Amino acid sequence: SAAEAGLYTASDQILLLSPGNVEAALINSTAAMVVEFYASWCGHCIAFSPVYKSLARDIKEWKPAVNLAAIDCAAEDNRKVCTNYRIRGYPTIKVANSENIIPFLILDFSRDVRSLRHKIIDKLESHVEAWPPACPPLEPTSQAEIDIFFETNNVQHLALIFEDAKSYIGREVTLDLLQFENVAVRRVLNTEAGLVTKLGVTEFPSCYLYYPGGNFTRLPVNIEARTFYSYALQRLPGVVRSGRPPSFTTFFHINTTEEPWRPFNKSRVYMSDLESTLHYSLRVELAAQPVFKGEALRSLKKYISVLAKYFPGRPVVMNLLKSVNSWLQNETSGQISYEAFKDILENSAQIPNAALPEGVRWVGCQGSQPHFRRYPCGVWTLFHVLTVQANSTGGSDPLEVLSAMRNYVQNFFGCRPCAEHFENMAMESLMEVNSLSSAVLWLWSRHNRVNNRLAGALSEDPKFPKIQWPSPEMCSACHTVKENGEHRWNREQVLPFLLSYFSSSSILTDYLE
Ligand code: FAD
Repeated sequence: SAAEAGLYTASDQILLLSPGNVEAALINSTAAMVVEFYASWCGHCIAFSPVYKSLARDIKEWKPAVNLAAIDCAAEDNRKVCTNYRIRGYPTIKVANSENIIPFLILDFSRDVRSLRHKIIDKLESHVEAWPPACPPLEPTSQAEIDIFFETNNVQHLALIFEDAKSYIGREVTLDLLQFENVAVRRVLNTEAGLVTKLGVTEFPSCYLYYPGGNFTRLPVNIEARTFYSYALQRLPGVVRSGRPPSFTTFFHINTTEEPWRPFNKSRVYMSDLESTLHYSLRVELAAQPVFKGEALRSLKKYISVLAKYFPGRPVVMNLLKSVNSWLQNETSGQISYEAFKDILENSAQIPNAALPEGVRWVGCQGSQPHFRRYPCGVWTLFHVLTVQANSTGGSDPLEVLSAMRNYVQNFFGCRPCAEHFENMAMESLMEVNSLSSAVLWLWSRHNRVNNRLAGALSEDPKFPKIQWPSPEMCSACHTVKENGEHRWNREQVLPFLLSYFSSSSILTDYLE
């Protein structure tokens, strides 16, 4: 199920969005909603998920004003939501304010909790016209406001945090105390000369408790920092927790039966993975683009043309790819909507015996957990197969498949940091490819570079460690040593190995429907 395959669970203090609750959560919320749009297969999203979880723990007291949510755009049920919000790459973090979903502000990505927290505060403050109703005032206070504070506020304690303009501590502590009664927090800038002089403040930051009649005392803490202030203030006499964070229903999918494990041979290619990759690519990934034009349209045409020419699929799938291709190549309007493309993909022309099976059935690309492997594994496999197929059928342009892949990845592949890395490799060395067989070897060696970079990363499936591929067990002749004993690939052996491993006659058809 979508909920299970995702990177978060209900216990993470992160609201799990789905088509059933997205409207209630985003439109009617009294809090600003920070939403992470991710794809469960995207390595960077996996690497980021512990940061997002610790952000959720760190700002859990802010819930009435700021709530964190996440949605897995790789789950098919969710893809419409992600398309509606125009999500093209993962992870993307946006902040929505109640009543004012659009413009949905993009939160610049960051890997540390502290800077994400600061960015959230910046967004809250920049959205004054649609202030979340439950958000307390965050702007600095003045002598004039303090003078009449107890006339208008019925609280026992007023905490003043003195700090310079760049510090976020005052605003953070204000939000940390949001759900506590009998205490209010205000920040005072070091430039507020009247109050600074009156209280004799010399240290920034520092925190003072201010009482009716103008009495004050310094809040004693070990370290002048956010968590120490918040902890001490939450424990002042008379201060009690009151507010309950607004709760939303999370609609889990009832159908939570896990997919059965499909036993497979680790050293073979499965057609089921290739068809699953086509399904996800053509029905989910491309659907993120409402309209194709210019560069995107050219890339789409090249990709489909390469598939129609070299995908070594079942006749029913080939018929479909060929009919999509001939429709696409004849389209001269310079602009095609995804809807029009989908129409042809679902065979509106009623070409006999032409269809792409719905849904995914991963076999050789199964992971030990739902967020491992799958689609990106399928993308690599697909393009290895295509370069090999172009080589054996004698394509005319050595770069035909690789430049289609390069364009696909650059324009459509949801994992944006992956696309950037891949583009760098292409810029660096794709021009060295001068034959169909060197295209096969280029993709093999770049894939190994990626494997090398990702070995040991959080996105690595522990049951399928990244290796320099193929292993000596798979192809001992591929490995040799230099004179000094260092490892060397024996390319004369690697090439025939690849040509045979990815050839259409070696592809297994188990598990096809
Ligand atoms: P994969 O690396 O996906 O390989 C799939 C299968 O291909 C393997 O099981 C094996 O049978 C075979 N194989 C392995 N190595 C080779 C080789 N050298 N030549 C031929 N076949 C081989 N993830 C990130 O976290 N960061 C990135 O920057 C990143 N960039 C990517 C760029 C592209 C273009 C793609 C398609 C994916 C990228 N990924 C990235 C995802 C990552 O490379 C893996 O696809 C993902 O982690 C799943 O790994 P896997 O274990 O299924 O093996």
